[in-house]
Amino acid sequence: MTEQQASQTDLATRILAGERRALARAVTLVESTRADHRAQAAALLEVLRGHGRQALRIGLSGTPGVGKSTFIETFGMMLVSQGLRVAVLAVDPSSTRSGGSILGDKTRMERLSREPGAFIRPSPSLSHLGGVSRRTREAVALCEAAGFDVVLIETVGVGQSETMVAEMCDLFVLLLAPAGGDELQGVKRGIMEIADLILVNKADGELKAAATRTCADYAGALRLMRKRAEDPDGFPKALPVSAWEDDGLDAAWDEMQTLAAWRRAEGHWEKRRAAQAAHWFEEEVRSGLLARLNRDADVKRAMAEMATRVAAGELSPDAAAEEMLGRLKN
Ligand code: GDP
Repeated sequence: MTEQQASQTDLATRILAGERRALARAVTLVESTRADHRAQAAALLEVLRGHGRQALRIGLSGTPGVGKSTFIETFGMMLVSQGLRVAVLAVDPSSTRSGGSILGDKTRMERLSREPGAFIRPSPSLSHLGGVSRRTREAVALCEAAGFDVVLIETVGVGQSETMVAEMCDLFVLLLAPAGGDELQGVKRGIMEIADLILVNKADGELKAAATRTCADYAGALRLMRKRAEDPDGFPKALPVSAWEDDGLDAAWDEMQTLAAWRRAEGHWEKRRAAQAAHWFEEEVRSGLLARLNRDADVKRAMAEMATRVAAGELSPDAAAEEMLGRLKN
């Protein structure tokens, strides 16, 4: 065994024992873009493979201000009080919100961050979606190895990050604010299609009635929009919650568990994870190929040349692409 393998084995042992400091170190390792760190991360993940532990991976999305941090804090505290271990990972590829600063997210969830049964990791600093996605998947794998029961993957509702998170979680929860009926149109269809549970937050005080109405609107829209084999009767659902007053979070957790248990029993859970693994394999090959092409000086030159000819109207975009692909084959 090389020295490097021995040190990864040691780190792996500590992660499997559930040591949070070891987990934090490992997540830092998978987030690094340095070639030697990547090699260490790969070795570590290989040692950890096959430990057989599975967390419930919950994707959570919502626009800024909807109450995600408040929800995660209250929801996380509830789970921890039930003896569950909770990891929170943030995916925020397009914003500098936390800028990768641990303080940024720790102060967002102050009580939860002090719990020994919780692990909170802010989003890695600004990076392209592909890189964030791989690092998040690896971080999820590390949290599972460390024996966490629930992994919450939080994302702000921008760009493609929701679809990406949906491809790495078992359940997808969308947090919304109470709204007038006409605002229903404002929620992107795509996200309604991936949400298993819509939680209308801030169902308290003056907003309570509006939240109940909003819930009914979404429940109707969800039913019209979607019926998948992996949805039991009554799902997807919309529920009112107040993260602030800790109201409805236990009901939301019950629904998540019901859905997860049904999917496990019916075989959808394993099927979904298998399909996700296949998806990420293809995605990695695709992005790896593109990265390789982008590094190839000859290809880059040819691409630039073709692009100029296309721009000048000498070649149609399709004919140029066809020719370019023909050249790559050789
Ligand atoms: P995030 O940007 O999605 O993480 O949202 P925050 O958790 O930071 O919350 C944004 C604002 O909404 C803050 O002022 C919170 O106090 C408030 N807020 C969050 N949850 C609730 C809730 O359940 N009820 C009410 N009334 N306000 C809430």
